Amino acid sequence: MNCEIRIGLGEDLHRLKEGRELILGGVKIPYELGLDGHSDADCVLHALTDALLGAASLPDIGTLFPDDDPMYCGADSKRLLEKAYGMVREKGYRLVNADLVIIAQKPKLKEFVPIMKESIASVLGARDSDIGIKCKTQEGLGPIGEGLAIECLATVLIERGN
Ligand code: MG
Repeated sequence: MNCEIRIGLGEDLHRLKEGRELILGGVKIPYELGLDGHSDADCVLHALTDALLGAASLPDIGTLFPDDDPMYCGADSKRLLEKAYGMVREKGYRLVNADLVIIAQKPKLKEFVPIMKESIASVLGARDSDIGIKCKTQEGLGPIGEGLAIECLATVLIERGN
């Protein structure tokens, strides 16, 4: 059987502000600030969603789930990821693995990595071991280093048998 493999790349950044919950990878993280956005502003799931959509040459997250559509106000990004992955599956692809880099000066995220992996794997019907997550700071430099925003980079590999 021939197997077609494709890679995808995603990126997302949201500003931190008061009065919002911090949700990363579908997990609530205790912190005094949260990410600002129309949905729950989970930049980890948004980057991953875009990587999956890109790998399958589908429209991006902003096109599929517009941030001026009231339907997506406060949306749970796990549901957006689930819908997007459903579209990828409809094209015959399945996830091989995903690798993520979360860039945040604060809070420390390392202890939440196992639960974020579990959260993401459960949405995608994958194994925790198919999901890689690394947490980096920006050494105090730039807007992320100053604690004004959190960014995530995501790569995925998908495959389909012919
Ligand atoms: Mg976003």
